[in-house]
Amino acid sequence: MSKIRCQYCHEYIDSSDYPAHEDEHLKLRSDGQQNEYVTLPPEERVEGDLEGVPTVYLHTKCGHATGMPDEITRSYLKNPYLYLADATFCTGCGKHVPLRECVWTETGEDLQSHIDRLRAEKPELRPGIFMRMLVAVVKMFQ
Ligand SMILES: [Zn+2]
Ligand SMILES: [Zn+2]
Repeated sequence: MSKIRCQYCHEYIDSSDYPAHEDEHLKLRSDGQQNEYVTLPPEERVEGDLEGVPTVYLHTKCGHATGMPDEITRSYLKNPYLYLADATFCTGCGKHVPLRECVWTETGEDLQSHIDRLRAEKPELRPGIFMRMLVAVVKMFQ
């Protein structure tokens, strides 16, 4: 039987079991945050010290600070195109908010400018036009 590598936990799952498995990851927790986010497999993430990398962001509209999980930081540093929705979870609002409304407490830079800068450094990873259209469609329905 063929197996699919889960993009959340990176286990190999039988393809017939995969839809139910993925559903478990996508269930919303009681605080509204997804159980887990897509990340790069551990061996593909940025390794080593994250010194100098900002990890806590402030949502300027509500004033709440939220910590960025380590595995997400290590994934987007490697591939800044991984989270194309340009939104992040605010624990104060209990929902996803635009990156533009959030600033890093460490650097004062807004998250959108930060990710745009990282993307500009890695144009070779830019997804094809089809992926970007798909994301645009998904955003329309959010
Ligand atoms: Zn999984
Ligand atoms: Zn908020």
